[in-house]
Amino acid sequence: MALIVQKYGGSSIPSLDRIKTVARRIAAAHHAGHAVVVVMSAMGGATDQLLTDAQNIAAAPPPRELDALLATGEQASNALTAMALNALGAEACSFTGWQAGILTSHTHGSADIIDVHPYRVRNALDRGVIPLVAGYQGLIHGGADVTTLGRRGSDTTAVALAAALKADACEIYTDVSGVYTADPKVVPEARPLACLTHQHMREMAAGGAKVLALSSVEYAQKHGVTLHVRSSYDHCPGTIVSDEFFDVTYEQQSPTVIAITHNPHTIEITLPGRPEPAMPLHATASAVGRSTPRSYPAHTGHGNIPYDEYTATASLIGSGLCTHPETLATLRRTLTRAGIPFTPVTLTNTRITLMCPPPYLADTVRALHKAFLTQTPQPPVPRHNGQLTLQP
Ligand code: ASP
Ligand code: MG
Repeated sequence: MALIVQKYGGSSIPSLDRIKTVARRIAAAHHAGHAVVVVMSAMGGATDQLLTDAQNIAAAPPPRELDALLATGEQASNALTAMALNALGAEACSFTGWQAGILTSHTHGSADIIDVHPYRVRNALDRGVIPLVAGYQGLIHGGADVTTLGRRGSDTTAVALAAALKADACEIYTDVSGVYTADPKVVPEARPLACLTHQHMREMAAGGAKVLALSSVEYAQKHGVTLHVRSSYDHCPGTIVSDEFFDVTYEQQSPTVIAITHNPHTIEITLPGRPEPAMPLHATASAVGRSTPRSYPAHTGHGNIPYDEYTATASLIGSGLCTHPETLATLRRTLTRAGIPFTPVTLTNTRITLMCPPPYLADTVRALHKAFLTQTPQPPVPRHNGQLTLQP
């Protein structure tokens, strides 16, 4: 018997029918003899609707009240899923983030999980009951107010619970069959990756990949939590994110590009008093914990720094990217031939990020995918030493 944390994202539950379908999947794992802990996101679109409601009431709602409101989205889907499970004859019990012992920093809207005391979750498991935890929320450590973790924060709830419970698997269910070499909506020939390291996944999330929230990957890397990204709409094997399964020989001598990511919402900020942006600061809408990039200054403590324009970014993710000049040469040649204006802004061995005007973004991603992931030989597949999945 394995202890499995299963997290279902909003795209897995756009409707009540889908909540019933997801409940059947959870019940199947439970009936197969596994101890299953569930983490639910709000139903698709629910958090955006709550944000709109708040903005229709007040232009700048108090952050404490906004968190109190936003946390209800996950509580609703969580309780509904518990009801669906009970209707299937699988005993289930829903918990809010604070009932599940998720303790956070003070930062409303983008709190960090700093401790997890999952007594009630363990107690439910001991009684053979399926515990369901509302994602994206917690309680201020040493305080009594509700916080939220930033957009897509339910991923982090799942990872933190998996770490605290020492779970055998942390399955993140979404609407795509794993982590792809590029966003399949932009690059139809993008392929799912069987496995990748935390570091690569972290770079992908930082480069704009939406499949996992950056803070969840950072948490997983820090606590050594293996992630299994899968679709709730199929039974494809999905993607394993882990450092355990890789040989040290994985560090290649030659550059390896494993994915192209993009971010349409990056903003370029010019620091006050500097006519030229000596160093553009980049932030994504999701990183600021609210739906619009305009709240960036307020949420980072930079004050009212004016920003120049929205600038899109595309990133190459891989290994040895900078130690080998041919990577940058191929990138320049590819984009110049395609007539795409661009400026490289981040050059590290695991990520090269470039800015381009937003209308060119899709073409940039497609051209880079073609140059690095379609025309060149397949990147070496990392040696895999372990069992891929615990899914029944
Ligand atoms: N419901 C929140 C959001 O839409 C958190 C999550 O889905 O993980 O961002
Ligand atoms: Mg998600």
